[in-house]
Amino acid sequence: MSDSFKALVARKEETLSCSYETLTLDDLDAGDVTVAVDYSTLNFKDGLAITGAAPIAQKHPLVLGIDYSGTVTESAHANFAPGDRVVMNGYGASEYLHGGYAERARVSGEFLVKLPESISNAQAMAIGTAGYTAMLSVMGLQANGPAPGDGPILVTGAAGGVGTVAITLLADLGYEVVASTGRANESDFLMSLGATGILDRAELSERGKPLQKELWAGVVDCVGSHTLANAIAQTRYDGVVTACGLAQGADLPATVMPFILRNVRLQGVDSVQAPMARRLVAWERLAKELDINKLEALSFDLHFSEVLSRAPDILAGKIRGRAVVDLS
Ligand code: NDP
Repeated sequence: MSDSFKALVARKEETLSCSYETLTLDDLDAGDVTVAVDYSTLNFKDGLAITGAAPIAQKHPLVLGIDYSGTVTESAHANFAPGDRVVMNGYGASEYLHGGYAERARVSGEFLVKLPESISNAQAMAIGTAGYTAMLSVMGLQANGPAPGDGPILVTGAAGGVGTVAITLLADLGYEVVASTGRANESDFLMSLGATGILDRAELSERGKPLQKELWAGVVDCVGSHTLANAIAQTRYDGVVTACGLAQGADLPATVMPFILRNVRLQGVDSVQAPMARRLVAWERLAKELDINKLEALSFDLHFSEVLSRAPDILAGKIRGRAVVDLS
């Protein structure tokens, strides 16, 4: 195996610049497991990191890419051996650790999840951070939250990576799902995933009243800002709202009224520092509950050389579902 490999690297002098470079293993982080990276993905956060729209990369030079799947080539960690198939996301990848946009990675085994037998390396990244975050959101919603049959669940940012997997998971669990999207042309696709209703996202995106008509037994929000505030204001008594994203904005222009008058619960969702025990549950549940046949409809292949040029598209909401980057 050649010691040199291709990587997408961010450098910062006065301004941020990203380009494809040839690296060697010596350029990587210290770590007890070396991985031949097979697949990565293009997430919203990758779009922010590549374009510099938000200061994601905290050190430079840095290999970008917040997640990857691959095969262990060397390991000094007791839990991993060459040939093991693994997935890595979060824990600072693409922030202060080198990430997945490289044909090789080296990392602490404490950060790696061994892939369940039934999930291939390609499928792991078709799921990716977005799908895993969708599962964390479903877990957050279900913890003392609504059961199927209790009423509709609203999913915002529905045509994005988290939204599409969340709809699929919830619908297959038996929940009634309403998809909020700005892309009316994706309605049939969202219904094919299991949504039973479509809401134009414009109806949620402006400032609304603190308490509105009670519509939702639960909400999986990927969008933040006014959308999240309105979703909370429309949640039924005892309902649960999960918040994972900020596609509209990081602000939350809401009041406490839904919390103190309707017992609504707001559940944060973090994938980056999620404890290993929760990650393992999430991946085991994905292996069992996500209809792998739907992954093909949820994802598309993106050549590694296209990542740089397509990054602005994900910030502009022009990417449907999951973009899987093949580095094998
Ligand atoms: P995508 O870009 O794939 O999807 C985001 C979706 O949000 C878009 O498809 C669009 O949906 C909607 N959207 C975009 N801009 C706006 C806007 N201005 N107003 C309202 N809706 C908008 O991203 P992901 O699905 O990968 O991630 C979703 C969010 O979750 C992101 O903010 C991301 O940073 C965050 N995230 C957080 C994680 C965590 O650990 N907490 C982990 C992973 C992601 P539509 O076209 O249907 O309207």
